[in-house]
Amino acid sequence: MFIHDSYNNHQKKVKPLSAKKAINVFVCGPTVYDSPHLGHARTYLVMDALVKYLRACGEKVFYLQNITDFDDKIINRAAEQKIDWKKVAKKYEKEYLDICKILQITSVDKYARATDHLDEIRAQVKRLIAKGLAYETKNGVYFEVKKFKRYGRLSKQKLDSLKAGYRIDLDPEKKDVLDFALWKKSDEKPNFPSPWGKGRPGWHIEDTAITEKYLGEQYDLHGGGMDLKFPHHEAEIAQEEGGTGKQPLSRVWMHAGFLTTSGDKMSKSLKNYVTVADFLKKHSTYAMRLMVLAHHYRTPLNYTEKLATEYDTAWQKIEAYLHTVKMSEDLNEKERKKLSQLLYESNRRFHRALEKDFNTPIAIAKIYEVIAKAPKVKECREWVLEHLKFLGFEYSPKKFGTNLEKLLKKREDLRLEKKFKEADKIRVEIQKAGFTLED
Ligand code: AMP
Repeated sequence: MFIHDSYNNHQKKVKPLSAKKAINVFVCGPTVYDSPHLGHARTYLVMDALVKYLRACGEKVFYLQNITDFDDKIINRAAEQKIDWKKVAKKYEKEYLDICKILQITSVDKYARATDHLDEIRAQVKRLIAKGLAYETKNGVYFEVKKFKRYGRLSKQKLDSLKAGYRIDLDPEKKDVLDFALWKKSDEKPNFPSPWGKGRPGWHIEDTAITEKYLGEQYDLHGGGMDLKFPHHEAEIAQEEGGTGKQPLSRVWMHAGFLTTSGDKMSKSLKNYVTVADFLKKHSTYAMRLMVLAHHYRTPLNYTEKLATEYDTAWQKIEAYLHTVKMSEDLNEKERKKLSQLLYESNRRFHRALEKDFNTPIAIAKIYEVIAKAPKVKECREWVLEHLKFLGFEYSPKKFGTNLEKLLKKREDLRLEKKFKEADKIRVEIQKAGFTLED
């Protein structure tokens, strides 16, 4: 499979570093200080579908996600709610994991909390100081950006233009406004011990400490939303490539486009968000996955309530198709040939679309096409189910049990006896059991 690599701006093959290894994937997890919204869900659904697809194609994948359970936002939230910061982090971490379960985001192998990796974080800061890439001030330890020549390459920005965006600096001892914190000194609790005094790690360093521990110094695919390109991912590259001397940190950088409302990025700060929990009160988890994957992952997805309702209807149509019982499943030779050609061709195009930069809208269109064009026989229903599974839908239609078979037989007999009223009653019974009957 080829994915657009944001670093080099062209499609690159997703493959393991060595043939014996799994494809190692890392995606920046959430900062657990509030409920997840639909913007978060988009990024994590895309990554889940990608990993599940790779696995369904026979690849071995190890998927790692961090959880930022220590951050100023968490501390501020704790102060607002007058509770311990650990309680805030625990509460929202649980909420995030519960939501992931409901959205069938089940592909992550390991969730790693920042607070469980303080030793690894301190070791990385020490290494950067020893290499002359970081320096200490009264207030903290900083990465010296000008010492890492490739800084800005991922986000395609020149250092001078980056500087223009920075006006306020809280630490006058910093050598340059662009230098970012690896360790923030603080006597205020919560804080942790370190060789540079008590304090807290910077946000970027937790990710490289965690990835180096579980994936090694280099890995295969790093994913996340577009907003993380700068400064977060840029900083990760500087820390790890600077610290190890090896490049690239990740062979492929995959960035998901924004989920927007009225054209603006859905975000906590703009207060234009819909939480996943609120969405799920009205719409189904399948509608959510369908809506996300019907848009290419790199394009914006402008969310409206109307759009969600449209995808509810679209999913209901798929579901109805999967529960259609066709009275006669026999196809003649010509029909069978036509069907196998359609399924073969749709399958080929489905995979070709996904292989080329994970083009899920085309893949979904192929599923719709089979539903619209193919006869409603068992073989086609299985095809649709199998292809939904490739995209990470975990769905099992109701089984055609023996009771249903008996009802079908009884109805057929009644129709032969021209007892149409009784036969119609059975049709209603079949509908109540969740199936559509087609003569
Ligand atoms: P955060 O907790 O804000 O760091 O976000 C967690 C993940 O969700 C990151 O990969 C973000 O890029 C992603 N994300 C946040 N908001 C949006 C959005 N509106 N659209 C797409 N992805 C988003």
